[in-house]
Amino acid sequence: MNSLPLRSVYLGGRWTAPRAVGTIAVENPATGQVVAEVPDCGSEDVWYAVDAARSALPDWSTTGPAQRIAALSALRDALTKSQEELARTVTREMGSPITFSRRVQVGLPVRVLDGFIDALSAATAEERIGHSLVVREPVGVVAAITPWNYPLHQTVAKVGAAIAAGCTLVLKPSELAPLSAYALAELIDGIGLPPGVFNLVPGRGKTAGAALAGDDGVDLVSFTGSLEAGRRIAAAAAPTVKRTCLELGGKSATLVLSDADLEKAVEDGVRSALHNAGQTCSARTRLLVPRHRLDEALDVVHSVVAAHVPGDPEDPACLLGPLVSAQQRERVLGHLARAAADGARRVTGPDPAARPLHAGHFVAPSVWTDVNPSSALAREEIFGPVLAVMAFDDDEDAVSLANQSQYGLAATVWSADTDRAVSVARRLRVGQVDINDAGFNAAAPFGGYKQSGIGRELGRHGIQEFQEVKSLQLPR
Ligand code: NAD
Repeated sequence: MNSLPLRSVYLGGRWTAPRAVGTIAVENPATGQVVAEVPDCGSEDVWYAVDAARSALPDWSTTGPAQRIAALSALRDALTKSQEELARTVTREMGSPITFSRRVQVGLPVRVLDGFIDALSAATAEERIGHSLVVREPVGVVAAITPWNYPLHQTVAKVGAAIAAGCTLVLKPSELAPLSAYALAELIDGIGLPPGVFNLVPGRGKTAGAALAGDDGVDLVSFTGSLEAGRRIAAAAAPTVKRTCLELGGKSATLVLSDADLEKAVEDGVRSALHNAGQTCSARTRLLVPRHRLDEALDVVHSVVAAHVPGDPEDPACLLGPLVSAQQRERVLGHLARAAADGARRVTGPDPAARPLHAGHFVAPSVWTDVNPSSALAREEIFGPVLAVMAFDDDEDAVSLANQSQYGLAATVWSADTDRAVSVARRLRVGQVDINDAGFNAAAPFGGYKQSGIGRELGRHGIQEFQEVKSLQLPR
């Protein structure tokens, strides 16, 4: 991390001095100490980055799959070689436990790149419909605006799709966790991608991010982050009718049907709510259990929560690190106070505000019952280690409770009967549903219904988001 060129921006294939005068301090959330500073770029830096991306577009957009696969493979290999250093960087910048950083924060982007490589190898970009030849072409210059919670994964999902689709890109990483984006840029610099295909401009959302979203030279904004920022970006993109792909928040549910293996199902539901300290867009923060099995479920909840003691994220045994910032900690504690005021009952966990380490932004896990379905605890994305346990009477009731949300990102349905689980899954208004412990598929489309967003990322569908479709009517 110390060797990263953190005073520079990456434009047109070179590290160069930014026009920005200010800097942004990056804090280690486990200690509260500043570990680095990056430039606080504004519209001038954004302008130069977009210009570099536009200049590279004519050549890169006409490359074929072989050259794009070669670039993606080289990036995948570079990521794999640097896994340990990258995992440490992510843990340092946003507080994920190191074991989780190795397995997910860095392990997942490697699989995401494999998904793009497989999709490019398998798919033909053209199809015939009657006398039309339908072709896919790169959308153009992509602005990628990313959050801090999976800083490398969300960045790679956009950079990989852009490379695969033949687009060029300007990345604005989260101001809270920009260091892994610098590490990624160093790796990209080393694989010999043509200058200008990838550009990095660090900065804040309201300045660099807003400038990118409104820039005439950007054809598509791919954004992952909060609902509020997503709405602003869509509004900033509207005057130029830019394409927008929005991956926003969620209030996802685990549905434990009456015939499920209750212990496994509840364990999985609790872990999903707590991993990455609850800072996962698809975290299943509502656990829906049959009313007659509620007490049994709470016994399992207790034992899983007891293993999640907040601690030093650099310790390989740590399961629960800090939240990303003091502000996020205050937000989450505010939600918990409101949950209690709204009549919910905390059934487990130590005092959420107890701090295991000085100054770090820790919040202990908490699980709540007697949750009113219309309360904020049941409806709002809290983004902390907080789980609402709610009871249902039958499958119909479970589906209706799960769908009672402005969001529609993900769900898991547990049942001993796969057909029954799939039938329930089909009725959920969400973008992805796991059946039992099926797990994440880095090549399957990822994205949300309703206010969880617009568009899909990853694999073939993720590449297609960055392409336009053209119909050529051929002479008959
Ligand atoms: P955020 O919206 O505050 O910031 C995300 C990014 O957007 C940052 O780079 C920020 O600088 C930028 N930004 C903020 N305001 C902007 C504006 N007006 N114009 C342009 N850019 C702007 O979100 P966050 O706090 O970094 O991330 C947490 C949120 O992201 C949660 O709500 C979470 O659910 C969501 N998220 C969603 C997914 C998904 O795939 N659906 C994945 C991860 C996180």
